[in-house]
Amino acid sequence: MFFVSFVCVRRLIQKAEMEKLPHVVVIGTGVAGLAAATRLLQEPARATVTLIDSLSQPGGIISSARKDSWLIERSADSFLAVRPEGIDMAKQLGIESELIAIEPRVRRALIWSRGRLRSVPKGFRIVAPGERWAMLQSDLLSWPAKLRLLSEPWIARRMATGDESLEDFAVRRLGREVFDRIVQPLASGIWTADPQRLSMFAALPEFVAMEQQHGSLTVGEAIRRKETAMALHTSGANSSFIESDLPSGARYGQFVTFRDGMGQLPQAMAQRVLTAGGCFVVDRVESIAHRDGKGWNISTRAGATSLHADAVILAVPAWSAGSLMRTIDMELSNELSGIEYAGSTVVSMGFEKSDIQHALDASGIVVPRSEGRRVLAISFLSSKFPGRAPAGHALVRVFVGGALDPEAVAMSDQATESLVINELKTLIGVSGLPKIVQIDRWNRCMPQYHVGHIERVNRIRKLLSKNPSLALAGSAYQGVGIPQVIRSGTDAAEQVCQSFANQDSTAGNN
Ligand SMILES: Cc1cc2nc3c(=O)[nH]c(=O)nc-3n(C[C@H](O)[C@H](O)[C@H](O)COP(=O)(O)OP(=O)(O)OC[C@H]3O[C@@H](n4cnc5c(N)ncnc54)[C@H](O)[C@@H]3O)c2cc1C
Repeated sequence: MFFVSFVCVRRLIQKAEMEKLPHVVVIGTGVAGLAAATRLLQEPARATVTLIDSLSQPGGIISSARKDSWLIERSADSFLAVRPEGIDMAKQLGIESELIAIEPRVRRALIWSRGRLRSVPKGFRIVAPGERWAMLQSDLLSWPAKLRLLSEPWIARRMATGDESLEDFAVRRLGREVFDRIVQPLASGIWTADPQRLSMFAALPEFVAMEQQHGSLTVGEAIRRKETAMALHTSGANSSFIESDLPSGARYGQFVTFRDGMGQLPQAMAQRVLTAGGCFVVDRVESIAHRDGKGWNISTRAGATSLHADAVILAVPAWSAGSLMRTIDMELSNELSGIEYAGSTVVSMGFEKSDIQHALDASGIVVPRSEGRRVLAISFLSSKFPGRAPAGHALVRVFVGGALDPEAVAMSDQATESLVINELKTLIGVSGLPKIVQIDRWNRCMPQYHVGHIERVNRIRKLLSKNPSLALAGSAYQGVGIPQVIRSGTDAAEQVCQSFANQDSTAGNN
C-alpha cells in the first residue's frame, strides 16, 4: 500500500523545485520518522518529504496483528498518557476517540517473590515509595527493610553532581532489599536494562530532581500526589486517561492504547503523510554523502540512482545512524555506535481462562532477578484492554531476554515456547496447552541509557551542529517511550526547518 517507486520520488523532487520547497529525506518509518514527516507536511507544508525504510510496513517495531479474535501486540502495547505528545498526535490524526485506558480494576502490578505473587505496595512508583501504611502492610518486605524504607526522609540528600546508576541511587535512598525486591524488577520490566549501568539522569531524571528539591522521595512523591489530585479536581479532567488513583508499580494506571491495537497509531500517521503528499520508498539506505554545492546524496541498496535531499532526518537506531555517518564524521559515527542496545523476546500466548488458575486481576507480573527465573515480566493483555482475546480466553505476553540475559533472544522457537510454558505453569498456574502462540524477537531494539548517556547525547548534538541540515530522531537519545519518540521526530523536523530559515536569511543578507 505504501510502496512508491523512484519515479514518484523524481516527480516529488520536480514538484519541490517548482514550488521552491526544500526536499527532506526521512530515513526510518518508525514512529520517530513518521512524526517528523507529519510535522514537515502539516499545513502549510514546509517541505516535500520522501521516507525510506527497509521494511514495507510503516511503524518500525510497533505492529499489531489480528488473528481471528485475538489481537497480538508484537512490541509496545500502550503508551504513557501523562506526557502530551502521544495524545496530541492521536488528536491531530483524528483517532482520539479510538483511545482506550487500562481497565481500572486491574491497575496494580504483582511481583513474584519467594514462591508466590505479591502486590506492589499501593502508590509505589518505580523508586518513589507510596503510602506509608501500604509499605507497612506489604508482605513483600522484611521488617528491617520496612523500617529502612520508612527512614528514607532522614537519608541525606546526595551532594555529588554527576550521574548515578539506578542501583546506586535506589540502594542509597531505599535500602538493598527494596531495590532487589521492588525497584529492580519494576525497572527491568520497562527498560530491560542492567540497573548497575542504567543512568538516573537519562532514564529517571524526575526522581533525581525530587531528591534534590525535597531531600526525600517519600516527601516529594506525597507532594506530587497531592498536586496531581488538586490539578485533576480543578480541571475536571477525564481521569480515566490520567492518573487519578494510586496505581501501584510501573505506572500501569497511566497507560492508554488504541481500540485496534498500537499499530493503529503508525498506520494513521502513515496515511496522513501519504495524503499530504509524502512518498514512501521501501529500500535500505547504504550511505549518505555531501552533495556538491549543498544538500545530500542518499544511496540505497536497490535504488538505481542516488536520491538528492536538502536535509536528511535519520530516524533509525543509533547503531544504524552511526554506520551511515562513517563517511561524513568519524567522531560522530563513533559516538552514535557507542550507544549500546539490548534485545528481548515477546511471547504472546492465548489460553482458555479455565486453564489458568490465577484470576489475572492485575496488569501483570514482574520478576526480580534475585528469584533466578528467566522471565522478566508478564503482561495480562486481555485483562488490561478489551477486544484482545475471544470470549472465555485470556492473552498474556511474556518478556524474556534484556541486557542481562542476551542469550534468551537467540533461543529457538521450540526452546522459547517450552521455557515460557513452564514459567507460566509456576507463575500463574497454567495447565492446558496454548490456543495461540506468537514469538517476536527484538534484537538490538532497546537503546541502553547507561551512566553518562546525557553527556554522550550532548556531544552528539554538538558534533551534529556542524551539519544543521542533518537531524537525528528516535528512541536512542531522549526517551524510549512512544510520546518521547514522537517528540524526537517533531523536534528533528523543526531543526531542519530552522536550518532552511537560516539559509534563507543568509542568502537574503548577501
Ligand atoms: C518489545 C518492546 C516493547 C515496547 N513496549 C513499549 C510500550 O509498551 N510503550 C512504549 O511507550 N514504548 C514501548 N517500547 C519502546 C517503543 O516502542 C520504541 O522506543 C519506539 O517504537 C521506537 O521508535 P523509533 O521510530 O525510534 O524506532 P524503530 O521503530 O526501531 O524504527 C526505526 C526504523 O528504521 C529502519 N531502518 C534502520 N536502518 C535503516 C536503513 N539503513 N535504511 C532504511 N531503514 C532503516 C528500521 O527498519 C525501522 O523501521 C517497546 C519496545 C520494545 C522493543
